[in-house]
Amino acid sequence: MHMKRRSIAIDGPSGAGKSTLAKQLAAELGFHYVDTGAIYRTVALAACRNGIDCGDGAAVAKLLPDLEITLNYGKDGFQHMYLDGEDVTEAIRQEEISVYTSRVAAIPAVREFLLETQRRLARQHDVIMDGRDIGTVVLPQADLKIYLTASPEARARRRYLELIARGEQVDLDHVLRDVVERDRRDMEREVAPLRQAENAVVVDTTGLDLKESFRLMLNHIKTCLGA
Ligand code: C5P
Repeated sequence: MHMKRRSIAIDGPSGAGKSTLAKQLAAELGFHYVDTGAIYRTVALAACRNGIDCGDGAAVAKLLPDLEITLNYGKDGFQHMYLDGEDVTEAIRQEEISVYTSRVAAIPAVREFLLETQRRLARQHDVIMDGRDIGTVVLPQADLKIYLTASPEARARRRYLELIARGEQVDLDHVLRDVVERDRRDMEREVAPLRQAENAVVVDTTGLDLKESFRLMLNHIKTCLGA
């Protein structure tokens, strides 16, 4: 008998802790974690490497049919991204690519191009999928929608610590400016802007540590799935 797949959508601004928490929750529940930001980042990296101006929607759209973007779940269970066969999982995390991605992600042809890929993953697996438009556009029938947020300062600080740990040279003010700029662009774009789905549960992690956020979200999920 075909069992209906279960899906949990997590949306919210950058640095709210979506990917860290979604990854942990997926491991706890035995779901696949789908990081849709990584997929957008891979398109952006491809455009960047091809020397395309990320504001040039027509040029980016022209590149799409030739892109060979794949993902798989490595032995570690985490999502690895490949561009033309090269593992770009690390390369897409650079701060420069973050900013570039929010511009590429505003191009309607890019969103259209990636929609089916994301929905297919949710048909194949039980998923926790994080992004900006998962509850509103990609999986409007998700079993549970969580809008994960935190103050811009708290989010910039986390992102800063993450980048420093990865050996990038950044300063906090610069990261805060990037975060605010990225949120503005994600919220104001015409297609699939970041917004809270009507039936989403809001989780604000400003004053919470990772463990507390995890427990709170797990409780919401268990209540919803009846687990
Ligand atoms: O989640 P992450 O910070 O890796 O996403 C990078 C960028 O990709 C976001 O700032 C946003 O512009 C874009 N994105 C999107 N829709 C998604 C996931 C990410 O527009 N579902």
